[in-house]
Amino acid sequence: MIKGFKGRLLTPGDTDYDDHRRIWNEAVHARPALLARCADTDDVALAIGYAHDNGLLLTVRAGGHNFAGRSLADGGVVIDVRDLNGIAVDPERRITRLGAGLRWGQVDPVLQKHGLATTGGSVSKVGVAGFSLGTGLGWLGRLHGLAGDNLTGATIVTADGAVRNVGPSTDPGLYWALRGAGTGLGVVTEFRMRLFPVVQPTTGMLIHRLEDAHNVLWQVVEATAAAPAHLNWAAVLTCAPPIPALPGDVQGRPVFLVPVFSTAPNGVDDPHVQALRRIGRPLLDTIAPTDFCAFQTSTDDAAPDGTHWDVRSEWLTHLDGPAIDHAAAMIEEASSPLSEFLFRPLGGAISAPDAPDTPFSYRHAAYMTEIIANWPSGGGAAERAWTDKGLNGLTHLSAGGPDVNHIGLDEDAHRARSAYSPAARSRLASIKQAYDPEDIFQSPPWVHG
Ligand SMILES: Cc1cc2nc3c(=O)[nH]c(=O)nc-3n(C[C@H](O)[C@H](O)[C@H](O)COP(=O)(O)OP(=O)(O)OC[C@H]3O[C@@H](n4cnc5c(N)ncnc54)[C@H](O)[C@@H]3O)c2cc1C
Repeated sequence: MIKGFKGRLLTPGDTDYDDHRRIWNEAVHARPALLARCADTDDVALAIGYAHDNGLLLTVRAGGHNFAGRSLADGGVVIDVRDLNGIAVDPERRITRLGAGLRWGQVDPVLQKHGLATTGGSVSKVGVAGFSLGTGLGWLGRLHGLAGDNLTGATIVTADGAVRNVGPSTDPGLYWALRGAGTGLGVVTEFRMRLFPVVQPTTGMLIHRLEDAHNVLWQVVEATAAAPAHLNWAAVLTCAPPIPALPGDVQGRPVFLVPVFSTAPNGVDDPHVQALRRIGRPLLDTIAPTDFCAFQTSTDDAAPDGTHWDVRSEWLTHLDGPAIDHAAAMIEEASSPLSEFLFRPLGGAISAPDAPDTPFSYRHAAYMTEIIANWPSGGGAAERAWTDKGLNGLTHLSAGGPDVNHIGLDEDAHRARSAYSPAARSRLASIKQAYDPEDIFQSPPWVHG
């Protein structure tokens, strides 16, 4: 079908088509006409040429964890980069070269052999590509910036089939776009990223009763307002994880979790970590020196494959009491134990005045919220309405739009566009016009200005 293609080509008639098509979110039903599982960069260029010559829409698939399933389009051609999975580490220069098909769970252990890491996903099955071409907010973000902030260069095959090594001085416009708004412009085959020393951080979870969420979160907000960038945390309202040490009356019931991550050299004794441990009366405190990879995989079970998901997110200017109470009330209404209401802080390197110029448009925000609904089967109408209700209770805190990495199923294009500022969108539109003038790559709503 594509002369010279070395990888696998699958059409809906193939018995293993569904195995190759399947993505993390079962609520996505798109059925592409062709899955092109590429063996190398030449295959990527051949698949682009085939789609172009046949007038077919192109999407790109890496880790397959995009909530809205943007790697698949009905009747389109999918360039599947999962087999581009090489890793090279230069510990002297603290740079890594990552094949675009890798997931963070394949990357972290290799980097850790050198005592190094970079800002990656908080669930190890998430793809390096989609994560890094979007916001890329991870546990190391406050200390070392977003994934795009650490992108030193990339190899990308553009709509004309050209293989470009982009960086600050080669295709600088495209390089700028890849640092936070990089989908729909071509197929990245390799990322080059800056690395940082990370050895045995102090991590763990403080688990509180849901009724204490208001007081505890408020104190956490105050205790961390001026915290150094080495401290990161989140506020998660969800059902208690299956830990026997928790009291019986909270087993399987909504609780309030505060995951903590610190790279302070004095470990558990760090006063900022200690301050968080002293807040309220946690039912469980698991904070201890931890293997970095163990922490990075510790919440994988909360996001299993083979089930249905939707999400809403928003950048927030601040938190207030009504927002916390709203989140606590909402989690009581959730139908699945896997549904979650989260708040994640920004600050540190993400918000620093000298942060790099990238498409990310919310460095002025203080928090990001994610409202994640799960349901086992069916259309999930009630659960999807739950995410909207969750978001509606926070609009008074909006910094202007959603997180591009947490845009849900069928979200309104106008809202999705506001993942970027008007200035960023206008710059992206001219880059899209320069590199994909015929619009053969499925365009996210924000690349048209
Ligand atoms: C359980 C879970 C946890 C998450 N945790 C975080 C988190 O901590 N921080 C965060 O910022 N985000 C997080 N996300 C969001 C995640 O980063 C995004 O959903 C991201 O799009 C997933 O990337 P992927 O490669 O796995 O997905 P895919 O669905 O394969 O790809 C996502 C998008 O990137 C495009 N794309 C993929 N590969 C390429 C490529 N090589 N070249 C060009 N375009 C490409 C696709 O076409 C699609 O538009 C999480 C998501 C899930 C499901």
